[in-house]
Amino acid sequence: DKSTGRPTKKKVVAVVGGGLVGALNACFFAKRGFNVEVFESREDIRQAKVVKGRSINLALSHRGRQALKHVGLEEKIVSQGIPMHARMIHSPSGKQSPIPYGKKGQVIFAPSEAETYPNTKLNFEHKLHDWTAETGLMTFVRSDGSKEQIKADLIVGCDGAFSAIRKQFLRRSRFNYSQTYIPHGYMELTMPPINGQFAMKPNYLHIWPRNTFMMIALPNLDKTFTCTLFMPFEEFEKITTGDEVIEFFQKYFPDTIPLIGSDALRRDYFRLPAQAMVSVKCSPYHINDKCVLMGDAAHAVVPFYGQGMNAGFEDCIVFDEIMEQFNEDFSSVLPEYTRVRVPDDHAIADLAMYNYIEMRAHVNSKWFLFRKHVDNILHFIMPRTIIPLYTMVTFTRTRYHEAVERWHWQDKNDIFLIFHTWLQAWLFTALWGCLGKGHNDL
Ligand code: FAD
Repeated sequence: DKSTGRPTKKKVVAVVGGGLVGALNACFFAKRGFNVEVFESREDIRQAKVVKGRSINLALSHRGRQALKHVGLEEKIVSQGIPMHARMIHSPSGKQSPIPYGKKGQVIFAPSEAETYPNTKLNFEHKLHDWTAETGLMTFVRSDGSKEQIKADLIVGCDGAFSAIRKQFLRRSRFNYSQTYIPHGYMELTMPPINGQFAMKPNYLHIWPRNTFMMIALPNLDKTFTCTLFMPFEEFEKITTGDEVIEFFQKYFPDTIPLIGSDALRRDYFRLPAQAMVSVKCSPYHINDKCVLMGDAAHAVVPFYGQGMNAGFEDCIVFDEIMEQFNEDFSSVLPEYTRVRVPDDHAIADLAMYNYIEMRAHVNSKWFLFRKHVDNILHFIMPRTIIPLYTMVTFTRTRYHEAVERWHWQDKNDIFLIFHTWLQAWLFTALWGCLGKGHNDL
């Protein structure tokens, strides 16, 4: 049994998983004065000679920024990001057309890295093996195979989509759980700079919608783009040679071949296998006053609304707000967190799945584009009544489930609202006409 060796003025909070959400959560608990211990299975990437794994660059939007702001990290992270003002749609012929995100002045940022708050102890190479809900006793396996037992007052499970903490929840009665793998996988390819400059316009989320396939590209600070190709696994597997890669890109993404480079394409396509994407929904998020799940451990969502990390960051701020409300009493805070947060996280999981279909198919359709314009015009005329769903999700902290309810309401009522606005405008003009006439008669 290892004690944390710190003066125990406050309780010990163990954050299991030092990914994006775990690192941010540690800051929230540290700011409240808890003794925070973060346990991460990987080695410290700041000291690693070789950094293994993928390099997903992420769109950080309003919800995530609000959470970062709360712990004083917003400026630090945002200054490392590249603002994206609009989507840039690439047609198969190479034609590019921008679709704005919403009001001017609203941007999304793509940070390349997230740093941790200093006031917390990080334990790398600690892989959670097992834990007990009754006592809060956790067993970790270190890289040399040795085991270590550590006790905490509160365990915060931030260990990602395949959470080891969640395994204990699965053994308990009345725990709801579902997971769905989508038929698509993803692969990352790098588009290098050309003459030291971005190969495409940097302040856009570039999208190549091709019905069942899709590629997106996000800018990085080093002037490269990370291109992510989403495609059914069976299609990935059909391509087995370099020539087939080029043939495939020639057919669907010809404008990217000179930008990525055909030699790089032939090589990089086979560097790593395509990765799977899973959607996980569960409830409740807590066990007694001992343990709570946050981030992907509670709700892995498919990455088609750019909200996975943002939702995870918002989890931290919502939890913190409830901590304030209930005076840090875990036995009240944890059930309230489940009550408040489950409907919202389930809503964003559903929306992300919905967008998975929309981004693939509808972004090409004239009806979809027309509806987007109508929504934007209505938003301009009635900014308080009509707010496009994307705006609510990406640029506000409207609760996800309320955004969905409002979206359904707007969808049902938009014809009525157009008529109502038109009638108001007509009455207004007619009234002024009458007044003008009356004045002339005098
Ligand atoms: P993770 O980042 O998975 O971190 C979990 C951590 O726990 C890891 O460091 C892991 O090593 C550690 N761990 C796991 N098991 C153990 C164990 N047994 N013991 C100790 N430690 C353990 N989100 C956005 O908001 N915007 C985007 O644009 C976006 N794009 C995406 C694109 C793709 C292709 C994908 C796949 C996801 C994208 N996401 C995006 C989602 C985002 O990546 C995740 O929501 C986010 O990383 C979740 O953070 P997390 O900390 O909960 O989990």
